[in-house]
Amino acid sequence: MHGLMMETPLLISSLMRFADANYPNREIVSVTVDNPDQRYTYREAFARTRKLANALNRLGIKAGDRVGTLAWNDHRHFELYYALSGSGIVCHTINPRLYPEQVAYIVNHAEDRYLFVDPLVMPLVEALAKGFKGVEGIVVMTDEAHMPASKLPNVICYETLIADESDEFDWPEFDERTASTLCYTSGTTGNPKGVLYSHRSVVLHAYAGCLPDVLAFSGHDCVLMVVPMFHVNGWGIPYAAAMVGAKIVMPGPKMADGETLHALIEKETVTVASGVPTIWLELLSYLEKNGKAIDSVSRVSVGGAACPRSIIEDFDKKHGVTVHQGWGMTETSPLGTVFKIKPDMGELSQEECYELQAKQGCGVFGIEMRITDDNNQPLPWDGVAFGTLKVRGPWVASNYFRLEDAGSPLDKDGWFDTGDVATIDPNGVMQITDRTKDVIKSGGEWISSIDLENAAVDHPDVAEAAVIGRYHPKWTERPLLIVVTKDGQEIAKDEMLAWFDGRVATWWKPNDVAFVDELPHTATGKINKLALREQFAEYQFPDA
Ligand code: AMP
Repeated sequence: MHGLMMETPLLISSLMRFADANYPNREIVSVTVDNPDQRYTYREAFARTRKLANALNRLGIKAGDRVGTLAWNDHRHFELYYALSGSGIVCHTINPRLYPEQVAYIVNHAEDRYLFVDPLVMPLVEALAKGFKGVEGIVVMTDEAHMPASKLPNVICYETLIADESDEFDWPEFDERTASTLCYTSGTTGNPKGVLYSHRSVVLHAYAGCLPDVLAFSGHDCVLMVVPMFHVNGWGIPYAAAMVGAKIVMPGPKMADGETLHALIEKETVTVASGVPTIWLELLSYLEKNGKAIDSVSRVSVGGAACPRSIIEDFDKKHGVTVHQGWGMTETSPLGTVFKIKPDMGELSQEECYELQAKQGCGVFGIEMRITDDNNQPLPWDGVAFGTLKVRGPWVASNYFRLEDAGSPLDKDGWFDTGDVATIDPNGVMQITDRTKDVIKSGGEWISSIDLENAAVDHPDVAEAAVIGRYHPKWTERPLLIVVTKDGQEIAKDEMLAWFDGRVATWWKPNDVAFVDELPHTATGKINKLALREQFAEYQFPDA
């Protein structure tokens, strides 16, 4: 017997309608190339979104078509998020920092019909345009006064495109399982793979994000959205903020600029911010050097890569800001786990609290987790056993776009293998110990490269560190530490290795350390371990 409730579909357009009606005066502020202080209200934003929807219609773009964006975080990108998905078109966000060949591959694989491009990304598009197979036009996200010169055919100015359109538009109703957005993961090997979100998954994910023990967004918040909108739907913040009427602040192309971030925080009275660890290192260093404070901020969400303990302590001790670390991935929309203190954890000392914050966090309703051994048998949640982290839930990918025929990426019980290795403790706190392919297998036992890296970056003179497994005749593999020092500081090898005494198990201690000027990174800013392994392919341990 079915219940007798309405089956109103969960659609992205309903978020927009709700915010428009309930929070008409909340502001959206952004930095753009043409206006460093662009501000308007939700009401104005959604009126322009309806104009854009009419313009998309006029261009002949139909429901189900893909339209790509190559853009930073700003109000026009926000309008695209809603106008495209709201019309049933797939909003395909592309990371402009990917290798050019990957951008071309992604645009062609998705069969994007139009590209909406930030003026700063135009040189990349100009260089790649010849190789785009189905792109009918490029819309530059600016006004006529700031249009870059271009020899490409059909280059349109965003403001001109929407100028004469009506701001009346009836958002269509359709099945909530309809595709809404598309984002490609950029692994270090193989071609990028597309994760195709649905309206249902996006709306449920936004609900979860607003929960008090998750991102805890409320209408009183002013959210500084530093996490790029091309990275997993900006962690769903453009939707979650609209759900509760939070003010949104977006730094445009100035995401990694400590001065801009600080100025925005002060001027807009930002209460909460989100981004990857590197951004926060940048901001903290700017604050330190210039003696600045960020008094309005109470919490910062950090994810995408392990958050070094130094960030957690600096934020707390110097600025009274609590770091909420979260874990997730493109395939999980991305919300998977998030830092939270539970009542049955008892009274926690400052030290215990920092330790907890440095872990990846607790489960969020909607994501089921398990860790399994090599035989796919579930491992206990005892904080010791570590195994492959698997997840399932309504905002986890069931397959990749246009790879459906290549088989299912899920195991026979429907779990998605995250490629991460983790422990889960009796309180449900998950800790990533490695990527499956990065874990170091020493004499049959696993060593976590992430734990070693975290310990290394706690050294006051270490700027960045990576640990890779290298061949060792006795142990098969042993850890090699690779370090970039801060501002040309010198650290003696012995001193660096002795730093691990008491910080990690004795047998985890790296066998050697190499100092380098810089580490290779992937386009999303993660350390490229594959490139490092190639760089150190011929390396031999001194004791080998
Ligand atoms: P992406 O799909 O590019 O967002 O990458 C997802 C991967 O980033 C995850 O599978 C993890 O390996 C890593 N990751 C994300 N968040 C964290 C975190 N808080 N700590 C450690 N690794 C993380």
